[in-house]
Amino acid sequence: MQRGRVLYAIARRILEEQDRLARLESQDTGKPLAQAQADAVAAARFFEYYAGVADKVLGSSIPLGPDYADFTVREPLGVTAQIVPWNYPLQIASRGLAPALATGNTVVLKPAELACLSVLELTRICHEEGLPPGVLNVVPGLGQEAGYALAAHPGVNLVVFTGSVATGAQVMRTAADNIVPVLLELGGKSPNIVLADADLDDALPVLLKAAFPNSGQTCSAGSRVLVQRARHRELVDRLAALCHGLKVGPGLQNPDIGPLVSRAQQGKVLDYIGIARDEGAEVITGGTPLPGADLSHGNFVSPTLLDGARPEMRVHREEIFGPVLTILPFDEVEEAAALANATEYGLVAGIWGRDVGATNWLARTVKAGQIFINCYGAGGGVELPFGGYRKSGFGREKGLDALLSYTQVKNICTRIALPRRS
Ligand code: NAD
Repeated sequence: MQRGRVLYAIARRILEEQDRLARLESQDTGKPLAQAQADAVAAARFFEYYAGVADKVLGSSIPLGPDYADFTVREPLGVTAQIVPWNYPLQIASRGLAPALATGNTVVLKPAELACLSVLELTRICHEEGLPPGVLNVVPGLGQEAGYALAAHPGVNLVVFTGSVATGAQVMRTAADNIVPVLLELGGKSPNIVLADADLDDALPVLLKAAFPNSGQTCSAGSRVLVQRARHRELVDRLAALCHGLKVGPGLQNPDIGPLVSRAQQGKVLDYIGIARDEGAEVITGGTPLPGADLSHGNFVSPTLLDGARPEMRVHREEIFGPVLTILPFDEVEEAAALANATEYGLVAGIWGRDVGATNWLARTVKAGQIFINCYGAGGGVELPFGGYRKSGFGREKGLDALLSYTQVKNICTRIALPRRS
């Protein structure tokens, strides 16, 4: 009950300070102000949601016959190490912190070197709102130093890692030496599958929003569109028209698309667009570093549509992490499922169409942790279990399923026969 009250107080403070937190996040990451504001509200939601759960973490009673009473309790794991990436620092830190604290764990948090300011502010809020000293500790620093030291520390009981596949694998190997469980939230190459009977008026604005949030630097971005051939031309033309209307600019001016987080990330994305051209894809819109001379100082990439992508192309299979959307036509529904599953990832998939049979068949067949039918990223998502299949990771964050990740089950069995009389 007390933990819940502290978490509620943190949620309220985040909401009170949301404008300041959003400005800080936008300055630190470059993301559009409105998106940073939505991140602050989502961060508060994590604390509200798990505040309400803190006094409802239940075990179960197991029938073993009349001679025994058997029940389980869910105990905290102890010290959780949480390693956070730069793309959604405030949201992702809150996503791991709130359920860990609600279930009675402590946290040592390492924000990313490229963006850590909002996490430091969140820590201040947590302490000012009554979190006891020592329950939450923050260790900013480089991944190979602070991150590695944390994953390797024998006093840690769970490592929660969000980031790239390569680093996730390294963290898993490091934690293995101490036999410590890891929760891995890694990358994605999530498809939106558009069937011929889909309502494009509904779908197109959502496809665009799904592809380019935070300039496409989003693990769950819908970075591929698979479209049934009858609607291919129409979809490409209409998406291109929508792309031309997107405003690109500095995050604090609240554009549709902000800069990428660093020069290196901009270079990586432009390299991928070059690879796409070399492999024979057609750049329909964007593909350039600068939408205008006044933005030449920033790490901008204009929103890019790639058509004519073939399934074997790298841009169709690999996570680019920038404002690049690839489009691929298919003929039969079975082919759409095969294409959707033709990457190493499996985080999210969207399915658009009116045929309940086809959309639900695809939902069962596509390998991903979250499926959206005729929507994408529904609601704030705090309530929905989130996590990967395959190289997108394992374990679940968000929703009630996250409680399983942050607790361990103890079974307690008592023999209840009457004592012998002498
Ligand atoms: P990254 O793997 O480079 O870094 C992530 C974090 O790990 C950073 O804090 C970094 O300092 C730390 N780190 C680096 N080396 C380490 C080591 N040896 N040991 C311990 N920690 C180390 O990832 P990034 O570039 O910051 O983030 C982008 C990636 O994160 C993308 O692949 C994206 O898809 C993924 N991501 C996934 C989710 C999700 O919930 N599934 C959310 C956001 C981002």
